[in-house]
Amino acid sequence: MKKNDEFELTIEDLSVEGEGIGHFDGMTFFVKDAIPGDVILARCTKLKKRYGFARVQKVITPSPHRTEPICHVAGKCGGCRIMHMDYEEQLRVKQRMVREKLIRLGGFSEEETDRILKPIVGMEKPYHFRNKAQYPVARSKDGQVMMGFYAPHSHRVVESETCYLGDGVNEKIRSVIKAHPEISVYDEETHRGLLRHVLIRRGYHTGEVMVCLVVNATDESASVTTLTETLLPELIKVEGMRSIVVNFNPSEGNVILGQKTKTLWGEDMIRDRIGKITFMISAPSFYQVNSVMTEKLYAKALEYAALTGRETVWDLYCGIGTISLFLAQKAKHVYGVEVVPEAVEDAKKNARLNGIENAAFLLGKAEEVLPAFYAAGGSTAIPDATLPAENTAESLHPDVIVVDPPRKGCDEACLQTMVAMSPARIVYVSCDPATLARDLKYLCANGYELKEATPYDQFCHSMHVESCVLLERVSNRKADS
Ligand code: SAH
Repeated sequence: MKKNDEFELTIEDLSVEGEGIGHFDGMTFFVKDAIPGDVILARCTKLKKRYGFARVQKVITPSPHRTEPICHVAGKCGGCRIMHMDYEEQLRVKQRMVREKLIRLGGFSEEETDRILKPIVGMEKPYHFRNKAQYPVARSKDGQVMMGFYAPHSHRVVESETCYLGDGVNEKIRSVIKAHPEISVYDEETHRGLLRHVLIRRGYHTGEVMVCLVVNATDESASVTTLTETLLPELIKVEGMRSIVVNFNPSEGNVILGQKTKTLWGEDMIRDRIGKITFMISAPSFYQVNSVMTEKLYAKALEYAALTGRETVWDLYCGIGTISLFLAQKAKHVYGVEVVPEAVEDAKKNARLNGIENAAFLLGKAEEVLPAFYAAGGSTAIPDATLPAENTAESLHPDVIVVDPPRKGCDEACLQTMVAMSPARIVYVSCDPATLARDLKYLCANGYELKEATPYDQFCHSMHVESCVLLERVSNRKADS
């Protein structure tokens, strides 16, 4: 086998990146735009010792799950990796992915996994569900302003008229910005120019819109004012507009938002609701992008937490307090921990806004705050002194701990303290089945038992999958201590 060789390949599986996987001549091949069940004529593009990459030259026999993507840039834009697969099959692929990670990385038996793993919950209409979009801005060769998404593994901006994942308001805002070719656009290569990203949020239930213009500047200079004065008069006319902010990001890296944000027009935040709770969301805070599925996911987390009103609960990686406040309605006390200062401030505001008094929020890394709190023997370590003193013992040994970490999962120092606190139940909300499986393995080796896991399709047409898992304490450590 050498580069450019053509050969027939049957696609058997999908990689985590959404590439088709097939075997030929003792080698494993990864093929973009191919799906399980396809028989293709492949052309080898790159060879390593045991594996290689190939392109689809021709689909000889299409998989029965092949479908024409609704979006004409699917495959070109890095957003939807598996839109050429019918939605039912997408769900099956994700279900298999979670199952396989639990078995291979979690060390759970096939039998146990099949007993605890519930069918994935998918969307009825898997389009236009995202409440947030982050568009990179670039200048095309012919001088136009481009706003789209990056091509896979590159920073080349791919545009399309409509993104089928996003809200309709995105197109209106894009057209306002694209109508001004005279604005200063950021150029990654030279690190010159101003406008680098446009972040748009729209409250799913409220329709409130926020636009955040991310600029390559440290502060509000004359050129930033020129840019904002050009765009503002038309942006404020967009239906639902509540907040226009500028974020200063002078860094050369890939991080989208800088540290500093300033409100240009309207409010600092927008509102949205999850269930009965209203949330204020500021530009840098994390907020679940799929509101429809989030409500279902949080309802499951609440069900797994099995609250009666007497429980003390920790919510680690709490963001703006979404899960915390959801739980607080049914618990005695909730402690949230979050590393982003703005998110902690939002969480406190959100508690007040909803008249919730039994939730406190701690700023810092879960793997530092939790061990420090535990070592210090409780609430003295809580700067927010609104909690009653008699709560100390309960906060050290809560009934339930909920975690919802980013993709890298929980740090071992965090898992260690969770085990030491020995809650009766742990609810693990995860956006990466691999790190989930790793952390479940640790918890199950340290006194917990896997009870149930339900995957959720929060990110349709991508390879991402969210899961909600219930663990219960096996040994009755509370009685021992
Ligand atoms: N539970 C929230 C947020 C989940 S996203 C919700 O459902 O909306 C994960 C959150 O963890 C983000 O808000 C992120 O800022 C935060 N985070 C990341 N690393 C962290 C760490 N080491 N300790 C605490 N929070 C962290």
